[in-house]
Amino acid sequence: MKAQAYVLEAFNEPLTAREINIPNLEPGQVLVKIKAAGICGSDLHIWQGEDPRVKLPMILGHEGVGEVAAIKGKKLTVEGEELKEGDLIFWNRGVSCGHCYYCAVLREPSLCPNRVVQGINIATTEPPYLNGCYAEYIILQPGADIFRVPVGVDPAVLVAASCSGATAAHGFDLVRPEPGDTVVVIGPGPLGLFAVAFARAYGATTVIVSGGSKTRLEMGQQFGATVTLDRHEVQDEERRQVILDLTHGRGADLVVEAAGNAAALLEAITLVRPGGAVLSMGFGQPGGTFAFDGYQHLARRNIRLQGVWVSDTRHVYRAMAMILAQPELFARMITHRFPLARVNEALEVMACKEAVKAVLMP
Ligand SMILES: [Zn+2]
Ligand SMILES: [Zn+2]
Repeated sequence: MKAQAYVLEAFNEPLTAREINIPNLEPGQVLVKIKAAGICGSDLHIWQGEDPRVKLPMILGHEGVGEVAAIKGKKLTVEGEELKEGDLIFWNRGVSCGHCYYCAVLREPSLCPNRVVQGINIATTEPPYLNGCYAEYIILQPGADIFRVPVGVDPAVLVAASCSGATAAHGFDLVRPEPGDTVVVIGPGPLGLFAVAFARAYGATTVIVSGGSKTRLEMGQQFGATVTLDRHEVQDEERRQVILDLTHGRGADLVVEAAGNAAALLEAITLVRPGGAVLSMGFGQPGGTFAFDGYQHLARRNIRLQGVWVSDTRHVYRAMAMILAQPELFARMITHRFPLARVNEALEVMACKEAVKAVLMP
């Protein structure tokens, strides 16, 4: 039996349709028929050759929801229920080793040097070959943490929980607003929209979203932003003034950088109040540098600067819970749906930011 998959063979070139043999499963592996595969911002950077982790040729796609087609041996979900063929499932895309210093001592599996992410750092020439979600099938590794999707949930709505939603959950696990706080979110893509939702859920009463796309800023309001700043209309210094005016001249309590570029991180540092925190969660790949002044930017204002690298199963769980609590809201984030064969078109609409989130529905 073969599965169709879309393979990245050369950067910046269209993905190529390939027929890949479905191998016999090893113990603990799960063959999953993909029902929805999210196009992530990281996929664009991978496609454009900007992600140093990537090994070609590879099947893109690390955000998936699918139906169990076959299981080798017995496999339990995170909730302790035995998986059955036909179950609709969702999984943590990263599989960490569980035994290194970061996994076993620090309990930070997202930092595990042995972490494998199908659709990011494993080629399609490596077993089990079906290593990405832009395909009819994926084979999940024995170590994958799996959740069963509740009956009636649209698979497309859940895909973002495995990546942008989980990364945002990780960020808010590290730094949380206090009830009543003012939070600024720079970058209203899926990651920023999750950040708005988490900021509100943790009690922020004023959430200001800054970005360059009207569609995305309007969506920011739907997700709970109280103020939006279009950076094409409100210049840098004006944006800072708006935030100072809203905070008695202090600056925001927490600023979330969800854009993944140096200018956004520098702006985040200038918008936070003395003693506040900056959460930088947008850098999934290198995004430029800026001149950092340890005195003015950090020490003199007693600022906490917190980086966020990917996520772990507990963050995937939080993001999933966030979506399941208001699925109609998160469904609005899915602006485009494509059949698998139109994957290259889906990448294009994400690249030009026409889509907030595009999902492949094989
Ligand atoms: Zn490890
Ligand atoms: Zn991603």
